Amino acid sequence: MEVLYKEQPLRFQKVGGQVGRCYAEFIMRFFRLSLFLFLFLTVMASLWRLNPSKVLAKDGGLPILLYHYVGPLDNPGDSARKALSVTLQDFEAQMNYLQANGFEPVTLGYLPYVFEGRQSLSGKKPVLLTFDDGYMDFYFNAFPILKKFGFHAVSFIPTGKMNGSYYLTWEQIKEIRQSGLVEFEDHTVNHVNLAAASGDQIRFELGESKSVLERETGQPVSYLAYPYGAVSGQVIETAKSLGYVGAFVEGDSRAYSLGFTVPRFRINGYTTLGRFEDIVNGRIVSLLPVYLKPTGSNTQENKSGAVSSRPQSQAAVRQPDSGSSASGPQQRVPFGLSLPRFCFLFWCF
Ligand SMILES: [Zn+2]
Repeated sequence: MEVLYKEQPLRFQKVGGQVGRCYAEFIMRFFRLSLFLFLFLTVMASLWRLNPSKVLAKDGGLPILLYHYVGPLDNPGDSARKALSVTLQDFEAQMNYLQANGFEPVTLGYLPYVFEGRQSLSGKKPVLLTFDDGYMDFYFNAFPILKKFGFHAVSFIPTGKMNGSYYLTWEQIKEIRQSGLVEFEDHTVNHVNLAAASGDQIRFELGESKSVLERETGQPVSYLAYPYGAVSGQVIETAKSLGYVGAFVEGDSRAYSLGFTVPRFRINGYTTLGRFEDIVNGRIVSLLPVYLKPTGSNTQENKSGAVSSRPQSQAAVRQPDSGSSASGPQQRVPFGLSLPRFCFLFWCF
């Protein structure tokens, strides 16, 4: 009994030592494997960054950009306004980047071809430029730059607000339309939250705006951008029944098909040129391809009362999207991840 008593602690020590060594080996192997994966992914990310055109060709996705205001930010501390504004200088730099790097903004009619994997008509890399809300600064600021570069764009307008103090006039819309560069599509009548609207209201907002826009521009209207990105199944079914063929939301993902929740990247005062380059070159890895904003309220408009002006025309514009529960960048759902950030998270995991 005495011998057994003495052997037991010895056995225990021996087994305990083996367990300790195994544990240490496991840690080292895990560390080496993680280090290898981290280095591998970092190298791959660098290669991807260096040669984005190959990724675009393989990926086939279309970057769709969403702008609101293009003009000066009078109060740099106005974060809500900054989330909707791009300065003239930044906008011109972005358009310059597109032109210098082989991009060509396409028209809505060309989207089916893009999603079939084709490039733009000229063989350049396709991108779609969209502008929401029909602010008057589009006429004075964005449109001249689009003309300078010969770029196509789409303007989504809430028809009931046109001719208002800070919005485009129908005369300006017709003049812009005659350039052949800008298509005007639907953004409802009153810029309401469709996801919170009744069936009758949805039908009115989508039907009335479509007929008014077609009458004023003389062009068919087939596309829709949901105000606040708010959408529901009922909204989509109503849009389909009224003859719409596609609709846009907001989300950090490129578009891969035409549907009723086509994602768009918001470009605003927080968008650096580096971030812009990542977006158009497909360096943003999206975790979820479809972005649906949570239902908000219908009383989101014009709460901030913030006003901006253009130096020459002093054309002041207000911001219907400001003050909404989903307008600030800090409140947006971060569905997008850059590849380096993805590598870092993988490494942490
Ligand atoms: Zn809007």
